[in-house]
Amino acid sequence: MSNYRLGLEYALEQDQNDALKLYRNQFHIPKDNLGNDLVYMTGNSLGLQPKQTKAYVNQELEDWANLGVEGHFEAKNPWLGYHEFLTETMADVVGAKPIEVVVMNTLTANLHFMMASFYQPTSNRYKIVIESDAFPSDKYAVESQLRHHGFNDKEGLILWKPRKNEELLNYEDLESILEEHGEAIALLLIGGVNYYTGQFFDLKRITKLGHKYGCIVGFDCAHGAGNVQLNLHDSGADFAAWCTYKYLNSGPGSLAGCFVHERHAYRKDLNRFAGWWSHNKQTRFKMRDDFDQLPGAEGWQLSNPPILSMAAIRSSLDVFAEVGMDKLVEKSRKLTGYFEFLLKDLGEDVIRIITPSNPEERGCQLSIQVKNADKSLHDKLTAYGVISDWREPDVIRCAPVPLYNSFEDVYRLVEKLKVILNE
Ligand SMILES: *Cc1c(COP(=O)(O)O)cnc(C)c1O
Repeated sequence: MSNYRLGLEYALEQDQNDALKLYRNQFHIPKDNLGNDLVYMTGNSLGLQPKQTKAYVNQELEDWANLGVEGHFEAKNPWLGYHEFLTETMADVVGAKPIEVVVMNTLTANLHFMMASFYQPTSNRYKIVIESDAFPSDKYAVESQLRHHGFNDKEGLILWKPRKNEELLNYEDLESILEEHGEAIALLLIGGVNYYTGQFFDLKRITKLGHKYGCIVGFDCAHGAGNVQLNLHDSGADFAAWCTYKYLNSGPGSLAGCFVHERHAYRKDLNRFAGWWSHNKQTRFKMRDDFDQLPGAEGWQLSNPPILSMAAIRSSLDVFAEVGMDKLVEKSRKLTGYFEFLLKDLGEDVIRIITPSNPEERGCQLSIQVKNADKSLHDKLTAYGVISDWREPDVIRCAPVPLYNSFEDVYRLVEKLKVILNE
């Protein structure tokens, strides 16, 4: 991408020619005290609110007010099967078949429910592999699974680590782990896009590798869903889970997505936790029947879900359905490539980008190390109206989101960085 140019004029020109430019106006952009748009670079942490979300949530509030319990059947969007309104679009977003996807629970809860079914350790095969930089919640979750099954959580955990003085992970090192310990490993649980470095892994390659050694392979796609093409079905992964409040713009703490590969859809032998929402829809309300497992990912649901949260997800997914992941990724690569170009212009002796430079191996986020920086750099950026994310010891994570961030946003961010560095 050598046709990028410096200067504000170029950024404005790109925004003008952007096929998705109208979408920014469909989101609430946080503002400073003077009413100016902040440069919001933390859509990887909490995605912004689509303006139409209020109407979607209000519809359900109104139906609840007017109909009470009858809303389960009589609401404009009947609550009984409300989660089904989300399935197809969510499946498209993550590259899965509808039978493989359900929206339910929260992310870490889904990881545990998936492990209840797919982490079936024996005295010989019980170890779990995660990235050494895995998101803390994932690490706590797998450690507690090890303890739950009576294993030592230190001894049972294998960390896939970067090499000395590096941050990114190498597949060859994962291969070595499997060559050495493969027979003892029950599960690989990997972040589809690493939250810290922004490295987007080859899910298919990891799955093939894990399966070759008889391991179950699951992915946490919190930083992948709505950001990159995950192609979960083709990856062959056994399961995956992701939240909807990051790139999927569905509101703080909103419900999560879950994927179970089609080949497990009709299995009755898997250990699962069940509830009335995993039971056959036709007989669910007879309340007397013996348990009759729903096929597919839906069969892992437990409870009737919170409709207000699902209404916000529905609003957001309607935007994704309209745009499509192909167009999003196309803009994302341009925008993040531009960001990289501007950062490199600041001098590679000052700025180091940890995130892979190959667009196939990253989403929109760039994780940046600034020479001799500490958290005051991040605080100064915030004072300049740039919302970014600081990770100790020295990394700033910025995610220009193609749905609502502009080339001008990226330009302004780098200009502020330049001012701070020259102070
Ligand atoms: C954001 C994130 C979480 C958060 O988990 P919740 O259960 O939604 O609180 C977990 N894992 C990863 C990799 C994340 O990026």
